[in-house]
Amino acid sequence: MSDWPYIGVMKLALHWQILIGMAAGVAFGLLAANLGWDGFISDWIKPFGTIFINMLKLIAIPLIIASLITGVANLGDLSDLSSMGGRTVGLYLISTVLAVTIGLITVNVVAPGKLISEQTREEIVTAYSSEADSRVEKAMMQKESGPLQALIDVVPSNIVSAASSNRNMLQVIFFVMFFGVGLLLIDKEKAAPVKAFFDGLNDVILKLVDLIMLAAPVGVFALLASLVVESPSADLFYALLGYAGCVVLGLGLMVFVVYPLVIKSLTGMGYGQFFNGIGPAQLLAFSTSSSAATLPLTMERVTEHMGVKEEVTSFVLPIGATINMDGTSLYQAIAAVFIAQAFGMELSLGTQLGIVVTATLASIGSAAVPGAGMLMLVIILAQAGIPEAGIALIFAVDRPLDMCRTVVNVTGDATVATIVAKSLGKLGAPRPKNWDDNYAEVA
Ligand code: ASP
Repeated sequence: MSDWPYIGVMKLALHWQILIGMAAGVAFGLLAANLGWDGFISDWIKPFGTIFINMLKLIAIPLIIASLITGVANLGDLSDLSSMGGRTVGLYLISTVLAVTIGLITVNVVAPGKLISEQTREEIVTAYSSEADSRVEKAMMQKESGPLQALIDVVPSNIVSAASSNRNMLQVIFFVMFFGVGLLLIDKEKAAPVKAFFDGLNDVILKLVDLIMLAAPVGVFALLASLVVESPSADLFYALLGYAGCVVLGLGLMVFVVYPLVIKSLTGMGYGQFFNGIGPAQLLAFSTSSSAATLPLTMERVTEHMGVKEEVTSFVLPIGATINMDGTSLYQAIAAVFIAQAFGMELSLGTQLGIVVTATLASIGSAAVPGAGMLMLVIILAQAGIPEAGIALIFAVDRPLDMCRTVVNVTGDATVATIVAKSLGKLGAPRPKNWDDNYAEVA
């Protein structure tokens, strides 16, 4: 089968193919925008991006089910489950609080909101107020429910209906973990065929990821071309450059300094090995703005290229994609303070510490889909007494920042998975740098 026609083209490493697809998408989008081909892009190009994302989302729930059951069942007993669970959740919390803190320091030092003139602010608020209203409304509905609503929401009353929407991943995770615990507690002989079935299912789904990724260069081309055509006017971009720069600076610190340093010092894995491993997942996160859609590739890269044993990735990463959003929490903290600055408010230390808590919780509650972080931002604003309509100020640049924060979300999950694996003696050697890729296996 190695003489499949595409195999010659696919020799180029995956991340290069994705990068070329992205660059070509942006170039084509700019050209199309100039030539007025907006209709052509939305009718004939965008659908391929949508199909690509749909394919990835299509396997998200089956992947979580198969991988988590396999992960829990492979743990051996309940004490292993609680020690891995404890480390995972603990590290996720620490990394989120660290991210929020870095965000708050950056935005206080740079103070981008103070650069906005009264006039610009009014213009933007008027331009986007109707969109802002609908976000505020949705977020308020979430906020008005009782204090334990979040807990209730984790426990589904019907697994089929929970698994029918990608937004209910936490409910599916709950059921699957519960199922896994049952599997650990029954007679080993009876558990064996159930385990074997989910093991096989897991392999099938990982193979599907390989197949879907063959289309990644085309998928990201289509996604970026349509994104460029749909972008709002340049004026607003300039007005918000300081704010966006701040978010990008904070996110950049996390990706290029914090994670690699932590990984190096705790596991010994080098900078090159780290990025060689997680790079393609970062590019996909950037193109899709969705940690959930990126999850299959994140799992594959962390397992096959960073040396983390499958029993760790299959447990730590699906949970991380759902609850660990370092990039989102960092962005939410910066956005909240930026809006306050733009409205001329001074936030006290107490209020900012409150933002650390609410941003941590809001990022846990944010779904791993495009734009979710902005929805939850409303709750942080309300809690800190900042006018909610202020999110209108940041609409224009939200999508590019969503792309960047999703990269951080995914990288944070991979970092924690690697550290958890190291602490449990389940970190093998990473693949050599030039080892690429899945295509040989697919063919
Ligand atoms: N798009 C982000 C993610 O999927 C969530 C967000 O910040 O909007 O990770």
